[in-house]
Amino acid sequence: MTHYPFASRMTGIEGSAIRATLKLTQAGLISLGGGFPAPELFDVAGLRAAAEQALQETPIAALQYGVTEGDNRLREMLAALTQSRGAHALPQDLIVTTGSQQGIDLLGKVMLDPGDQVIVERPTYLSALQIFRLNQVRILDVSLDNDGLDPDEVEHLFQAHRPKLLYTVPTFGNPSGAVLSVERRRRLLELAVQYRVLLVEDDPYSELSFGPAPPPLLALADEVPGARDWCVYLSSLSKILAPGLRIGWMVAPAAVLERVTVAKQGADAHTSTFAQLTAAHYLQAGHLPLRLGLLRTAYARRAAVLSAALRSCLPPTALSFHEPRGGMFLWASLSQGVQANDLLPVALERGVAFVPGAPFYADQPDPLTLRLSYATPPEDELAQAALRLAGAVSALSHS
Ligand code: PMP
Repeated sequence: MTHYPFASRMTGIEGSAIRATLKLTQAGLISLGGGFPAPELFDVAGLRAAAEQALQETPIAALQYGVTEGDNRLREMLAALTQSRGAHALPQDLIVTTGSQQGIDLLGKVMLDPGDQVIVERPTYLSALQIFRLNQVRILDVSLDNDGLDPDEVEHLFQAHRPKLLYTVPTFGNPSGAVLSVERRRRLLELAVQYRVLLVEDDPYSELSFGPAPPPLLALADEVPGARDWCVYLSSLSKILAPGLRIGWMVAPAAVLERVTVAKQGADAHTSTFAQLTAAHYLQAGHLPLRLGLLRTAYARRAAVLSAALRSCLPPTALSFHEPRGGMFLWASLSQGVQANDLLPVALERGVAFVPGAPFYADQPDPLTLRLSYATPPEDELAQAALRLAGAVSALSHS
């Protein structure tokens, strides 16, 4: 075997466990594994029209190199979308990123030195963990309940460790589904100002709410003196329009945005102009609210079907969870004695895939947890998936 001189930052880095599960495509398998939007709800006609418009009305902007910050038409539309969530943002306050994934990566590049400390939720988005690990930082985690992260623990960690940033998915967390309460949001903002820690709010899911959802931290920051200086907001069109477009955005203080722009020049010069112009025309045509309505209704029903089916075929002592309030994920915990990693092969044999919870932990994973995504399969398949999963749990607990 050839030994290549890899960078030390790659030591111990593993590929995403989800990608491994996604490669499984056995016939009849129902996958609750990936965070894939419902494919039948892609607005193919609307996006085709927007792509045509991009080429017809703005061919040069859509095909030529563009500026690193992003196309101005799209920045205007994304600023308006951010405003509609209650946060003030002007086009010049944001940069277009290649998915919000790139936003996390660029922040890592401009903010983090090896040995720095960052705080994440327990559990948290696994690709964020991957990015922080590549930055060779020390990752500390803060526990989470259905109302989001625990601010007392955050204060303790801020005091004891003086971290550089805290990364949170406060609304319909991936994988937790948790929603940070408004009270905790205010407290977190106050703590960020007091201890001078950057809050990185990752918000791809807040529009996929089944009922009222709290405003973003970025919106509440205006009520807490000085807080806006410590808020970075990441969002994305992936879950509300199409992940294939790879359009995300970052709202950040000017000094951060400046450096992120330099880092993006080196990363990819700019996000695909064709994708940007297609998205801009789509948003300008006003199609998004209707699409969001369809997605919210479909996901609310799917979450209810999966929850009800799980409850009817498994006692809460075997599988406990909170019914999702929005987003795409149901986070569950198995009873003692059955571990998610042992359950997976048995579940796959019975034709259902899921993601064990372990990769979502910075360290000391809880082996009983698992994430079920209800966004992709239709309702009848979700009910079937719950039955298969229940069969696998029973088989394993009796073996
Ligand atoms: N953050 C979170 C919490 C996510 O769940 C995802 C997608 N799974 C992303 C960021 C990245 O999304 P994208 O790069 O497609 O915008």
